[in-house]
Amino acid sequence: MAEVLDLDCVVVGGGVVGLAVAREIAIGGREVVLLEAEPTTGSVTSARNSEVIHAGLYYATGSLKAELCVAGKRMLYDYCRLRSVPHRNCGKLVVAASEAELGYLEKLSRQARANGVEDCYLIDAAELTRREPQIRGFAALVSPSTGLIDSHGLMQAYTADIEANGGAVVCNSPVVEGELVADRVRLSVGGRDPAIIEARLVVNAAGLNAWALSGSLLGLNAGTIPPRHYAKGCYFALTGRAPATQLIYPVPEPGGLGVHLTLDLAGQARFGPDVEWVEAIDYDVDPVRAEKFYSAIRRYWPDLADGALQPAYAGIRPKIAGPDAGGGGDFVIQGPQQTGHPAYLALYGIESPGLTASLAIAQKVAQLAA
Ligand SMILES: Cc1cc2nc3c(=O)[nH]c(=O)nc-3n(C[C@H](O)[C@H](O)[C@H](O)COP(=O)(O)OP(=O)(O)OC[C@H]3O[C@@H](n4cnc5c(N)ncnc54)[C@H](O)[C@@H]3O)c2cc1C
Repeated sequence: MAEVLDLDCVVVGGGVVGLAVAREIAIGGREVVLLEAEPTTGSVTSARNSEVIHAGLYYATGSLKAELCVAGKRMLYDYCRLRSVPHRNCGKLVVAASEAELGYLEKLSRQARANGVEDCYLIDAAELTRREPQIRGFAALVSPSTGLIDSHGLMQAYTADIEANGGAVVCNSPVVEGELVADRVRLSVGGRDPAIIEARLVVNAAGLNAWALSGSLLGLNAGTIPPRHYAKGCYFALTGRAPATQLIYPVPEPGGLGVHLTLDLAGQARFGPDVEWVEAIDYDVDPVRAEKFYSAIRRYWPDLADGALQPAYAGIRPKIAGPDAGGGGDFVIQGPQQTGHPAYLALYGIESPGLTASLAIAQKVAQLAA
């Protein structure tokens, strides 16, 4: 039998959340090793999103999403300034295309305040046109604290912090199975250098694969694993100049925030993500989906020219609630009490706003681990 490596803490998954968690544990003074299956960190969902720093408007008050988005946003802006991570506090407009949608904006404004987002306010059609001459709508909700971030720059900074605090990030190291043993978790690691590890603390931050990882652990009560749903979101890039200087969102659709205009830090525009419930992981963008994009975008940008959209990329949202439940569902962050084992913590359903909330999620996990 292979030699068993004895470790204090192991984080499985090197996306933005796993990296943030390992960083927090390392800063707290514990030995931590992060295991990532792929050749590089941050190549799955953390590389396939809108890179928006969300304000925290939409989420049910009292939910983990609301709490950790609002707290995480503040921490993230401070962190980006401190560590020179490229970002831009560009703001966003949620546009009501018709009078009928105005009620939704008013509700959203109240929801935002209840979540501790105090800076949102409504503007009318004339003010909307003054601010963004190409965008049309009946009214808009202004969210000044929304922004953009270079997610890869952020993950590099988290990695540097892990290493500066004595932790290690090891790629090409898929955890293939494991077992809960007494007060430890034993993990079998595949890849080029297979190993058996026993750790006093294991955090499952495997994103889309979190359910499969928990399912492979002998001794874990399967009843603790929540339902799993995948909602794919495709993006189309705009050829030509962006029609707005800030982010433009329609009113949300079930499962997502609606096909919105987002920008990269260079000001290039892309639209998405839509919502498609899928069973398997597949990142192809079917050009046929563009048709629905044109009609959705023209509700707020009527001058979008035919042929201006090109298939770009797709991401898949890990969710605990499917279309029958309206596609919502909160983050699930299980400490030892919820997993039923003193050494095992698990994160499920870390979809949007997981990037924004990463530092706050990490703090929560560290508290549960303590
Ligand atoms: C379409 C879309 C748009 C989004 N837009 C935004 C946004 O604008 N703003 C925002 O705040 N959030 C957004 N999000 C959410 C955000 O991207 C995620 O919450 C975040 O990236 C999740 O990070 P993660 O580390 O949990 O998962 P991941 O990035 O998926 O990382 C998990 C890692 O675990 C690894 N792994 C899996 N299994 C194993 C194993 N057995 N052994 C070792 N490693 C393993 C994977 O290879 C992967 O690298 C969006 C998400 C989607 C899908």
